[in-house]
This record gives sequence, structure tokens and C-alpha cells, in this order.
Amino acid sequence: MSQSEFRSPKGTHDKLPQDHQYMTYIKKAVRHRARQAGFKRIDPPMFEERAVFERGIGNHTDIVEKELFSVGRKGTEEGSDAYALRPEFTAGICRAFIQHGMQELPQPVELYAIGSCFRYDRPQKGRYREFNQFDFEVIGLSDPSLDAQLINVTYQILKDLQIIDRLTLQINNIGTAENRKEYVQALKDYFIGKERNLPELDRARLQTNPLRLLDSKEEDTQILLKRAPTLDQFLSDESKKYHATLLEYLEALGIAYIENPLLVRGLDYYNQTVFEYWDQSTGAQNAVGGGGRYDSLIELLGGKPTPGVGFAGGIERIMWHMKEAGVAPPDKDQVDVFVAQLGPEAKKKCLVLVNELRNLGFHTVGALGEASLKSQMRLADRFQARYALLLGQMEVKEGTIILKDMAAGKQKSMKFEKALPELIKLIGEENLDTYAIRDHLGEFSDPGE
Ligand code: AMP
Repeated sequence: MSQSEFRSPKGTHDKLPQDHQYMTYIKKAVRHRARQAGFKRIDPPMFEERAVFERGIGNHTDIVEKELFSVGRKGTEEGSDAYALRPEFTAGICRAFIQHGMQELPQPVELYAIGSCFRYDRPQKGRYREFNQFDFEVIGLSDPSLDAQLINVTYQILKDLQIIDRLTLQINNIGTAENRKEYVQALKDYFIGKERNLPELDRARLQTNPLRLLDSKEEDTQILLKRAPTLDQFLSDESKKYHATLLEYLEALGIAYIENPLLVRGLDYYNQTVFEYWDQSTGAQNAVGGGGRYDSLIELLGGKPTPGVGFAGGIERIMWHMKEAGVAPPDKDQVDVFVAQLGPEAKKKCLVLVNELRNLGFHTVGALGEASLKSQMRLADRFQARYALLLGQMEVKEGTIILKDMAAGKQKSMKFEKALPELIKLIGEENLDTYAIRDHLGEFSDPGE
């Protein structure tokens, strides 16, 4: 039981060591697939000027209207809500794209990010106030083959993590901004006289962001929508062709998808392709990731018109699926060797020994306190160490050391110098955790020269 009155804030979680086994594994899969596909890492700040999100994501989206965490300082010129914690990555990355003149780079520019995002939502299962996303952005060109390639990268990651079979890829085309404008008008016309049958929240959405009605969870809204005009009736030939080509490419890549005409995604900046990975049993509510094309976002943020397509995956939800599916990442934190000692001479020798063991790549815990050998060995058990080395006063005198196989409970005495080669043999050289910077380090050139 916790003795302190303090808890982690509502909707946040301490990422404990056992969680990091999963986090590290997921990040590794993301980085690996990102590098294979030529994506480079970017880290936009955790907070931005509030307007970046307001303008980018849209003032009348849930994320901006209800979920932004304000940051700032009361009494300053900027005010207490000049900034907001990032609720997602795309707007910040596009702001960075413009700021750093990335339109001069070879296009498309492929960027990825991993980190926490913040939404002031009512916390519930799978919906937190601080959560982690990985994010991919492909900026500079508009072509269905780029959408297909991006979807493929995300698909491969979910496959690597062994959860793709639990998910369905939902995909839709929401057309150009023009197409949507006409559709929104038709939707508004359809609801004239029917507003009072809409739940209050959706009645407001009809005014501010009518497309949100399509993925409304309200039953009354869904009933009314059955007879409403549908978005696909308003798609231009260009949008239809774009979509058909994308689906062809996905088929060529062997990616299974479900066409979902009601999928719009909540944010203003999307056009053409939108897609989400849904949990097969709970559907939209627990999507593990989603994305789409955003050809007007960069212009909205003040840059030259530059198209883009992106994806964000939710790491906590992926972790949950991995646990449900029984996918266990390897435990990289296990203790190979526990070193126990008694007496000042032994302690000094062990200090050096522990250092040597670690440098050789053994995960080593040294109990260098003053406890009895017996209680140190109990500790070795609790650390679940595979082997223990014991050095008492007698061993120091004789130049020996005791090696104990913890699982077998067997021990033997040997010459002190023999301990390391013996342990290498037992654990196997290939299993040692050696850290080597193998990559060729480019030579630093002084720009002044
Ligand atoms: P979105 O762009 O809002 O669809 O977010 C992309 C992904 O991030 C979602 O599919 C979720 O997996 C994850 N996500 C979004 N909001 C939250 C949240 N509040 N808590 C946990 N995960 C979230």
C-alpha cells in the first residue's frame, strides 16, 4: 500500500521497468522499419504556440476545443495559455518543416517521431491524458503510391509486433476540400428540420464540424444518417481514381483492408486518404493508430502549398494488444552474475571484479554492503541471478573464488583468475551484452577550415 498521499496525476502512468520491456521493443521495431524506408528522426518540442494546433488541427475539433493542455505563465505578456502541450505530432512537424526550409530538400521528406502527447480528455481504459505515439510523415508529394508505402511501413511494424491479426485496416477517401465543402452543405440541408432529433453534442457539431456526425457514437444520429447523403456521392472523378489506385497498390502489397465510407477522422486537415487500424472486437473506440493525407496543412500554417501524408500509432494500446496476444518481448534486464563478498580485502577485489564483469558484458549486481554472506545469497536469489561469485576472507587468502549456479544450487571453488573465463563459457560469448559503436563514425570536419 502506498504510504504517501501523492499519486501520479489522473490519466497518467508511471512507466515501470516491466513496461519498458515493451516500450523499448516497440520503439526498436519502429526505428528499424523507419530506417529501412528512409525516414529520419525529428523531435518537435513538447509544446507549441497554441495557434499551431488551433490553425493546423482546427478550432472545432475535439482535440482543440476540449483537449488541449494549456501551458504558459500567468501575469506575463504571453499569458497563461499562449502555448499548448502537443496533442499529436503532425502540426508541430509541419511547423518545423516550414521553419527549417525543408521544401529545399529532395522531396518527399520522410520524418518520424516518438514521444509523449497530451490530451485533456476524461481518462478511461485506453484513453489517457499523457500517452505515447510514434509518428510518420511523408511531405512534399501527393501520389497514391506514397500513401500505399506509408501504410505498408505501419502494417509491417504491427506485423513485427505480432498484433496485425487482431486488427483491421479501415480505409476511406474523403475527397478534396472542394468535394467536402459540397458534401457538408448537403449534409446541413438534409438535417434542416431534423436538428431537434439530434443529441445536443451532435446538434452543435452540425454547426461547427458536420463531418464529425459521421463517426458519432450516438444511436439517434446514426439512425438519422441512414438516409442522409453520403460522402462518396460527392467525390470528384479525381478523388475516386486516387482511391482506386491506392487500393490497387495495397492489394499488390498483400495488405488486407476494409473500405469504410463512414471513416472521416476527427481533424480538419485531412483530404483524400484516411485510414485507421481498429481492434477487431471493439472497433473505432480503441484504434491503435490512424492517419491520412493532408495536402493543405502546410499552407494553412503559413508555408508554400506542400502536400503530405502521415500516420500516428498509440504505443500504450499496442502494448495492451501485445499483452493480450501473449507477445512477450525479451527480458534484457536479467541479472547474469551476483557478486557477494565478506571482509575489507574481498570487498576491494570485488569492486574491481564487478567492473571487469560489466565491461565484459555480464549484467552484474555487486552486493558490496556489510551484510553476511548468507543474506547476500538470499539477495542473489531475489535478483534472480543466474550465477553468484562469492569471495570470503579465506578465498582471498587462498587466491580462490566460489562460483555458484543459482538454479542448480551447486557451487565449486576455483582459482580466482579462472572465474571470468568459466563464466564466459557458461553464459556464452554471444549472449554477453557488449556495447560497441560499430558504425563508422564520420570524420568531423571543422567548418572553419
Ligand atoms: P488520433 O490521431 O487521435 O487517431 O491518435 C492516433 C492514435 O494515438 C490512436 O489511434 C490511439 O492509438 C492513440 N491515442 C490517441 N489519443 C489517445 C489517448 N488519449 N490515450 C491513449 N492513446 C491515444
